[in-house]
Amino acid sequence: MNCIDFTNGKTQVFGIIGNPVEKSFSPILQNTIARALGMNSVYVPFKVEKGAVATAVKGGKELGIKGFNVTVPHKIEVMEALCDIDPVAERIGSVNTLKLTENGYKGYNTDIIGLKKCFEERNIDISGKTVVLAGAGGAANSAAMLAGEEKAAKLVILNRTKEKAEKLAERVRAYYSIETEVLGYDEIMSIENPEIFVQTTSVGMGNDVDGTPVKNAEFFNNVKIVVDIIYTPWETKLMKDASAHGAVAVNGFDMLFYQGLASFEIWNDIKVDKELAVKLKNQLTDFYCGR
Ligand code: NAP
Repeated sequence: MNCIDFTNGKTQVFGIIGNPVEKSFSPILQNTIARALGMNSVYVPFKVEKGAVATAVKGGKELGIKGFNVTVPHKIEVMEALCDIDPVAERIGSVNTLKLTENGYKGYNTDIIGLKKCFEERNIDISGKTVVLAGAGGAANSAAMLAGEEKAAKLVILNRTKEKAEKLAERVRAYYSIETEVLGYDEIMSIENPEIFVQTTSVGMGNDVDGTPVKNAEFFNNVKIVVDIIYTPWETKLMKDASAHGAVAVNGFDMLFYQGLASFEIWNDIKVDKELAVKLKNQLTDFYCGR
């Protein structure tokens, strides 16, 4: 039997708070990045029930846990347990990263960074373009704020529940001077120059392999790039439809990787070299696909 020597008295602890967390890929992602950079740290999952987030965060501080990722369903509830919040996370209205400071945890949102990197890696410039967003939930908030941040000309939000889309459009306009429009999925063909499409609903995820919020695939004829932030299955029905109609379709794994990398950089006050980041992303992609 071998002795375990990758932790000792100086090991820093990080983790993810959510429910469920059993299937989260973040422990593999974060521990892989940490090992590659020679950090003396471990990252573990913490299942936390709704209503218990503040207690968990308080306990985390007492235990000296250096940082957390926060996932469904706690990204909003956790905001009440923080001593400080990054302005971008405040605009988005949710937090997915906590960093331990002297007074408690400061909250950040790195989903927006993950999505931004996804475009940057493909040399896609959002500025001046029409961005079409499917969904108005938590992830859609990050995508909508990115459209504002990057000076898109127009943001069109499609959502099953129109009131939620209206609220999101209002929120974006409160921070950015961007034209917004709310439409139903059945009105999609009326959108002029829908160059960039971001799919943030849970339709098409997991076993829902035939699910897509866009029923008329002809719509993708005029779209240049489609990002579906789902990564299971690797290629969703929406991505298949988009590719078949000439759009470049990308799944959500890059976003997942880069939001995690951004959290890691915030916790450790470092910037990971671009080449190493791509190498790690490819390594994790191979691992994820090979499971
Ligand atoms: P959420 O807040 O619960 O929002 C879910 C969205 O999906 C809402 O807009 C909802 O519409 C829509 N929706 C659900 N079922 C639908 C249906 N049958 N028909 C039409 N619309 C439907 O969830 P979230 O946190 O934003 O996450 C959404 C997805 O993004 C999940 O698949 C998640 O895994 C993924 N995600 C990926 C990353 C990444 O790094 N790649 C990061 C975050 C999230 P209503 O408003 O009408 O209910």
